[in-house]
Amino acid sequence: MTLNIYIETYGCQMNEYDSELVGSILSGNGFALTKTADNADVVLLNTCAVRENAHLRIYGRLQELKKIKAARRRGFTVGILGCMAQNLREELLDAHHEIDFIAGPDSYRQLPAMIEAARAGAAKGAALKLSRTETYGGVNPLRSSGVNAWIAVMRGCDNMCSFCVVPLARGRERSRDPHGIVEEARVLAAEGYKQAFLLGQNVNSYRHGECGFADLARMVADIDGIERVRFTAPHPKDFPDDLLDLVAGHPKMCKHVHLPLQAGNNRVLDLMKRTYTIEEFKDLAAKMRSRIPGIALTTDAIVGFPGETDAEFEDTFKAMEEIAFDAAFIFKYSERKGTYAAKHFKDDVPAEKKTERIVLLVELQKKITGEINKRLVGQVFDVLAEGALPKYPGCLTGRTDTFKTTVFQNDGYARGDMVRVRIDRAKGGTLFGSAVGKSGGKQEERVRL
Ligand code: SF4
Repeated sequence: MTLNIYIETYGCQMNEYDSELVGSILSGNGFALTKTADNADVVLLNTCAVRENAHLRIYGRLQELKKIKAARRRGFTVGILGCMAQNLREELLDAHHEIDFIAGPDSYRQLPAMIEAARAGAAKGAALKLSRTETYGGVNPLRSSGVNAWIAVMRGCDNMCSFCVVPLARGRERSRDPHGIVEEARVLAAEGYKQAFLLGQNVNSYRHGECGFADLARMVADIDGIERVRFTAPHPKDFPDDLLDLVAGHPKMCKHVHLPLQAGNNRVLDLMKRTYTIEEFKDLAAKMRSRIPGIALTTDAIVGFPGETDAEFEDTFKAMEEIAFDAAFIFKYSERKGTYAAKHFKDDVPAEKKTERIVLLVELQKKITGEINKRLVGQVFDVLAEGALPKYPGCLTGRTDTFKTTVFQNDGYARGDMVRVRIDRAKGGTLFGSAVGKSGGKQEERVRL
């Protein structure tokens, strides 16, 4: 009997990609994938360990699965994949009897055997060995988008930022063979995918023989049929000049860089082990903007890092105000088991102080995002149509090359079309516009009508 598997994904784009890998591995081994947990024999939660909120969501979901399992008694299997499985290990298995097995990010090839073993009544399983070589080369992710394809170019991270659990959960850096990546992108282009989103925990570190990340991105961008190339995330400490040149000069490289700031105070940056100063970060942002006019910069920031004083938070606030990112993901610090910060620093900023700081920073960012987006009204951008949202009936949504969500009236366009859209108004982070025709193919210059 074919077993139905449902995969539920939490966290970042790398996890989305990993779920596509898992889908491919399982369907290649005779399992069927379902779109809901209701009719599944096996539910796999692909988890995130980066923040406490992600943990809480997964614990909540486990409570629901526990009830389903109790109702069905036998024949309902629960597996936990990803960073939380890797980081909490047996602690997770011991505390949650509804879990049948756990598997870390480098163990997904073992899943068919683990599922079979669990169904046969074997003891709880754990596959948690981190690899220095596993890149899932040869596994073709089972994608569903049809327009945008995540492509992981590397796995792991060697940076060891003091707050971050990723190096512990995903292991050491490994870069994929560029030939395999380019071939994957060629196949995607032939299948009609328009955008390749190159993923790595720190793409600056990508290296395979003589091939660096800019070389790789150029090869992907040169593929006929691929109309846009995005990447995330680079580290501000060593953003390569050749990558900046490529983004500036290649018409298919999107004019958007996500550059994680994390904090705007040098003592805090030092404790975070980010290895750049706020002055260096500002210089890099200025260099990007002067080299690539109109480029969008987005960022991540953490408030309430251990020991962060009011004055140090003020530095972050001022830095965000001065740099004026297009958008930002802002988080409260939460201690992650096993990290340098958890071992050496006390999580001593009171919860209410963290809330106060995040509210201030989010308000500031909303204001900046609103102001930047209002300046785009009247301009025309190429928007890659990615789909429709029920809250905007009759419209398509997509993104500009600067990664701004754009909603426009669907006058006969389809997902995957590159549409010229004149921006009529901006509301918060979203642009609303009118289609003025199909794009000529390559990214056209923005024009003011
Ligand atoms: S660069 Fe730092 S924040 Fe990013 S994944 Fe690596 S350790 Fe984590």
